[in-house]
Amino acid sequence: MKYAIPFADFHLEFQHLESEIMPAVREFFSRGSYVLGENVAAFEKEFAEACCRRYAIGVGSGTEALHLSLRASGIGAGAEVITVPNTAAATALAIAASGAKPVFCDVDPATLTLDPGKLTAAIGPATRAIIPVHLYGQPCDMDPILEIARKNRLAVIEDACQSHGAKYRDKQTGSLGSLGCFSFYPTKNLGAYGDAGMIVTDEPKLHESLRLLRNLGQTDRYHHAVKGLNSRLDEMQAVLLRIKLKHLEDWNEKRRALAEIYTAELSKSAVQVPSAPPHTKPAFHLYTIRTKRRDDLMAYLATKGIQTLIHYPIPLHRQQAFADLQLPEGSFPVAEQSAREILSLPLHPFLNQDSVRFIASEIRNFYR
Ligand SMILES: *Cc1c(COP(=O)(O)O)cnc(C)c1O
Repeated sequence: MKYAIPFADFHLEFQHLESEIMPAVREFFSRGSYVLGENVAAFEKEFAEACCRRYAIGVGSGTEALHLSLRASGIGAGAEVITVPNTAAATALAIAASGAKPVFCDVDPATLTLDPGKLTAAIGPATRAIIPVHLYGQPCDMDPILEIARKNRLAVIEDACQSHGAKYRDKQTGSLGSLGCFSFYPTKNLGAYGDAGMIVTDEPKLHESLRLLRNLGQTDRYHHAVKGLNSRLDEMQAVLLRIKLKHLEDWNEKRRALAEIYTAELSKSAVQVPSAPPHTKPAFHLYTIRTKRRDDLMAYLATKGIQTLIHYPIPLHRQQAFADLQLPEGSFPVAEQSAREILSLPLHPFLNQDSVRFIASEIRNFYR
């Protein structure tokens, strides 16, 4: 189906960037350095600076950023890692890939991010790390999470795959835990033209370990110190991401402005708008409303040419891939309830304000 207002519009973005991208791509091809070249190194430096961290390590995807972060933290078979059930499957799949067992903790009903009040109960003798997810670009309540982690000597690895540029108490998400993991999947606030990811940290040991792990464990060519894998950030993606990084702040501001219009237009309607605690500055990767009549609203908006999506329809403990965890329906009531009510509306830097007003008015029409 072709929508008058699609959820994302890469075509518009490319039009906007074409004059910057094409000369850079031509230069990239003429240079002939395709793996771990100077653009990866430069992008790592620039991205670390943007995150207010000492180091950044480019990797193949957000999933691998999480997986390698766990391995660099010494976490594998026998360990448990806590995360939330209402996230991209990649978060829990990365835990499984490391050999550890994902343990889920329910979320706060207002923000749909990890509920610090439920965290202690999820910690057991095998727990080694917590992966809070800044879902939809909304920063988790990090202070109590970090405090509980400190008391229990647990690593905190942030899943910042949806929160490039979001802030918690004036600090960048991704700069609060021992490691911050980012995805540059094309739809993310900072998106590549394919798959790519990044890990940021301040700790030299983790940095060194991650540099080996992402590149087959090589210290020097053909000398393998650890059992690493091939998870390098492509040089060409780095060329393109360097261009897009310069626009990130501006694009995030555009997202925030559009989100503000949605909230103003919908706050007195029948739908529940996202709530951002005052000490956070969300990145609005997604603008996700809640309503008991979600499926009907989604169908109605489709008839008006408006594409909406559900992030995410099935909580991870109810996915077949995690059937081995034997977690029945009812295990995480807040996440389960939200999965039936959430609906993400179109929101990207190239969406115009009139479209947002039109979408909001159609939502109000639906409830009339
Ligand atoms: C996108 C995403 C990932 C995975 O990133 P990929 O680059 O697609 O592997 C992990 N966690 C969250 C919350 C995401 O949104």
